[in-house]
Formats: sequence, structure tokens, C-alpha cells
Amino acid sequence: MKSKVYFIQANTKENPESISGKVKKIFLKSGIFNLIEKDSFVALKIHFGEKGNKGHIKPEWLKDIISLIKQKTNNAFFTDTNTLYRGNRADAISHLKIAEEHGFSLEKTGIPVIIADGLFGRDYQEVEINQKHFSKVKIARAIYDADFLLGLTHITGHILTGFGGTIKNIAMGCSSRTGKLEQHCDVKPEIILHKCNACKLCISVCPEEAISIRGGKAYIAMEKCIGCGECLAVCRQGAVKINWDESSHRVQEKMAEYAIGVLEPKQKFGFINFILKTTKDCDCLAKDQPALVEDIGILASNDPIAIDIASVDLINKKADDDLFKKIYPSINWKVQLEYGAKIGLGNLKYELIEIN
Ligand code: SF4
Ligand code: SF4
Repeated sequence: MKSKVYFIQANTKENPESISGKVKKIFLKSGIFNLIEKDSFVALKIHFGEKGNKGHIKPEWLKDIISLIKQKTNNAFFTDTNTLYRGNRADAISHLKIAEEHGFSLEKTGIPVIIADGLFGRDYQEVEINQKHFSKVKIARAIYDADFLLGLTHITGHILTGFGGTIKNIAMGCSSRTGKLEQHCDVKPEIILHKCNACKLCISVCPEEAISIRGGKAYIAMEKCIGCGECLAVCRQGAVKINWDESSHRVQEKMAEYAIGVLEPKQKFGFINFILKTTKDCDCLAKDQPALVEDIGILASNDPIAIDIASVDLINKKADDDLFKKIYPSINWKVQLEYGAKIGLGNLKYELIEIN
């Protein structure tokens, strides 16, 4: 049987009210709104965007669905978890400040922001899943405790997984700091010595102080490295190398298992994907990035696999290419979806229902 994925065309050139109206339309049509119970605690899982990032989902686009949700409950909240890397979202205080800077404040949206894994990312609930990589996973407490999870995802490329959609948002994005570490720990970076100019940028971002300069080149102490990939993202010389085949494959499988740990105890959830300003890297990048493809629109579904594969199919149709393969040739972005389908997270087959 195919999973239903609802789709409405949209473009960032439209005014925010128009986009908000379309999000409302798809939220109602997909039946997600009907699943929210009176007075329930509703977690709206979103990425607030790193400082300087301009691609993240805008709070104005969510105005109408917040009004709808508030007809049923006053217990809805925006949420995200703290990052592994040293940035502006690595603890709850700085994370809340960034959320506010980007318009996600109680005053502006009418609902509060809760950083789901606490001040330093240590607040989690262990969930038993008994899968290939993990028997238990560590889910951010406030997300675990909520009655309903609404995943709000900006579709982008991703440096570790090729493609970042709903699976990434609810797996990596709903896990505690140690949960993120468990998913990343197979990523083992190496320095290509002849390319390194000892600029020390990687040293400034490494969260574990694993990098130093030895003999005029960067050196990684592997016993300290947690595989977060920040050194790779920041190096402008292309001097950090990762064995993508092995690393990305395992990270993606682990993400799918974490997504099971987020969704199985809850049973009540819905997802909305935004293919608006799809960029090469995710919203963790602290800068504005150009769009890779023309704006396409907004999708909604109860199936996290179906909504992601439908999103990529729409992008590839517009780009007339396998876009995420093209931008990250060494990564097979499909692993997260194929493995996710295999372990029962969702369905690769879908029916796309376009609404006007
Ligand atoms: S960022 Fe790149 S070039 Fe600079 S020190 Fe690190 S590895 Fe070398
Ligand atoms: S050396 Fe390891 S821990 Fe440090 S930034 Fe690179 S991947 Fe992350």
C-alpha cells in the first residue's frame, strides 16, 4: 500500500501570509490537525537556523497553523536540541537567543520555545528499540514527553548524509548530545598533509579539542575525535578527508534507528517539508547560501519516509538530475530511506496528492 503525501506549490517570492495560508491548507487536508487532541502537549520540532543563516523556516509561515493548534491546546511549543559543534546553539541559553533573533519568541509567535535536551544537552529518556546498531537510544526529554510531534523540516543537502529531510530532523534533531555522538561516532576524519596550510580554522571549531598543529600541519588525536564533521565543514583547503562510503552509510542507518526511537513511543505525529530555498548545506551553516534549485513547495504526510522520498523526487524532477548525488557524489543519500523502510519506519511507495 502507498502512503499519502500531500503537496502544494509555493515560492519564497510570495508574501509570508500567502505561504502561511498554504501551510494551513496542507495541514488540514493531510489530516495531521485532526490527530492533535484537546489540551495535549504538542512539540513543533524545527531548526531555528544558525546565526547568519537565512534558509531556515520562517516563523511567519507558521502563523496560521499555530492559530489552529491553539484552538485545541495551549500546550504547544517550538523545540530543537543542542548541537554537538561549538556554535551558537550548543547550550540552551545561546540556542534560545538565536531562536529569538530569528523570530521564534513567545511574543511574536504566541507559543514558547523549549530546548528539548536541557541546558547542556544531557536531559534525555532512553528508549528500547532493539535494532542492528542500537538496543536503546537517547531521546531528548521534552520531545519524548510531548503527546504529539509535528516535524517541520527545511529540505537541504547535508555534508554527512547527502540529503537532509524529515528523517534527519527527527533522528539527529530529537536526540540528546550523547545520542548525536552515538550516531556520528563512525565518522573518522584524516588530514591530507600537502593540502593543509595550518590555518587553524579546524582547531577553532573542534568541540573536543582533538586537533593541534604538529610539524606545521593539522593533526587529529583520534582517541578524542567524536566524528562531528565540523573540521571537514570548515576547512577551506579541502585538507580534511572522510571515508564517505563507510561513514555516511552507517550514520544514515543509525539515524533511521533513532527516528524509530523518537516515533514508536509516541504513535502520534505528522510531518511538513519545505522545499523552499533548498541549499547545499543544512541550516547549521552560519551564512546565507544560494538556492540549488527553484522553489517547489510544501509537503505534508504522516509517513517520514514517504515525505522525504517524495521531496527528493520533486527536486530531482525540477533539477532534471539526481541533485544530492550531484552535489555529494561520494554519498548514497538513499541509505537513510531504504534502511528506514526496511526497519519499519515508513513506506518508500507513496501517492502524491497535489492541492491548490
Ligand atoms: S582548517 Fe584545513 S587547512 Fe586549516 S589547519 Fe585545519 S586542516 Fe589545515
Ligand atoms: S576532529 Fe573529530 S571532533 Fe574534532 S571537529 Fe573533526 S570530526 Fe569533530
